[in-house]
Amino acid sequence: MSKWEENVRKVVPYTPGEQPKDQNVIKLNTNENPYPPSPFVMMKVNEMKDDILRKYPDPTADMLIESLADYYKIDKSSVFAGVGSDDVLGMIFMTFFKGELPILFPDVTYSFYPVWADLMDIKYETVPLNDKFEINIEDYIKPNGGIVIANPNAPTGILLEKDKIIKLLDNNKDSIVVIDEAYIDFSPEGSSCLDLISKYDNLIVVRTFSKSRNLAGLRLGYAMADPKIIKYLNDVKFSYNSYTLNTFTILAGTAAISDDAYFRKCNEKIIATRERFSEKIKELGFTVLPSDTNFVFASHKEKAASDIFQYLKNKGIFVRYFNLPGIDNYLRISIGLDEEMDKLLEELNTFLTQD
Ligand code: PMP
Repeated sequence: MSKWEENVRKVVPYTPGEQPKDQNVIKLNTNENPYPPSPFVMMKVNEMKDDILRKYPDPTADMLIESLADYYKIDKSSVFAGVGSDDVLGMIFMTFFKGELPILFPDVTYSFYPVWADLMDIKYETVPLNDKFEINIEDYIKPNGGIVIANPNAPTGILLEKDKIIKLLDNNKDSIVVIDEAYIDFSPEGSSCLDLISKYDNLIVVRTFSKSRNLAGLRLGYAMADPKIIKYLNDVKFSYNSYTLNTFTILAGTAAISDDAYFRKCNEKIIATRERFSEKIKELGFTVLPSDTNFVFASHKEKAASDIFQYLKNKGIFVRYFNLPGIDNYLRISIGLDEEMDKLLEELNTFLTQD
């Protein structure tokens, strides 16, 4: 090993879902939205003048921050945006977690959390889910250096009731509590914790444009919290990279927020497809966890998930398989177009009925 290598920050990186080059693949492996972005987004992008790319973007992304603040009826001092919610979450880890006590998150959750913790030398403890893959709030009522919960959780898809999050907050007034609401727009109305940010100044709600706003390729995410939290986040962001959001992203994101009818229509379609698909795979012998997201987490009673995954991949249908303890017999299947889900059901049926 060279001398300089002793000083390398060695990490085991997060593995994102595969992005196949073949455009004919039915892609149900990264929870993207199967519908295109709002036509209004494309209109705004097409109207863009080249001058916009000649200049630096607005480092405060004011137009976008203001439109998010108006949309959610909160003050702009309560909104922070970044390059996807990954960037926002990474910035949150960097800003708020550096104490002696470990931060807490579930043992089965978004697998980027431990990667950021390792990268930034943040102490952490994973808290087991119960045997129904649910989060037990009582387990988070102990001294900690912060709490991160994806709600609904991923890859399980299970939503934690709001009264339980209130209990979590009431018992953790001295810690930063991050609720990652990447999938909340696919959950029943009233499930979000956003309205609690005015009551709990230690709560951060994180959202993304990648799922319910059909813009995973844009890379845009945001956090909403008490202005003091947002100020600390901005101090770190401006100490690291002033221009996280480019002008193109700021314009397209603002346009997406203004087309609420399209947003609601797509989400309703996805929820309807999810419900229909869940029933159908249950008929094929799958156990399906209750999902309030744009994916389902399912396990077959007889066939190994890894075999189903490989069979589907050979047939040009990509789903997600995590070879991790406790979930290695499950598949995470994103909800696509109705015709894509029908094709998947057809292939599953063929696989399960062959000798
Ligand atoms: N949080 C959760 C729970 C996720 O599943 C994802 C998607 N991989 C993200 C955050 C990050 O999404 P993005 O960076 O695209 O906003």
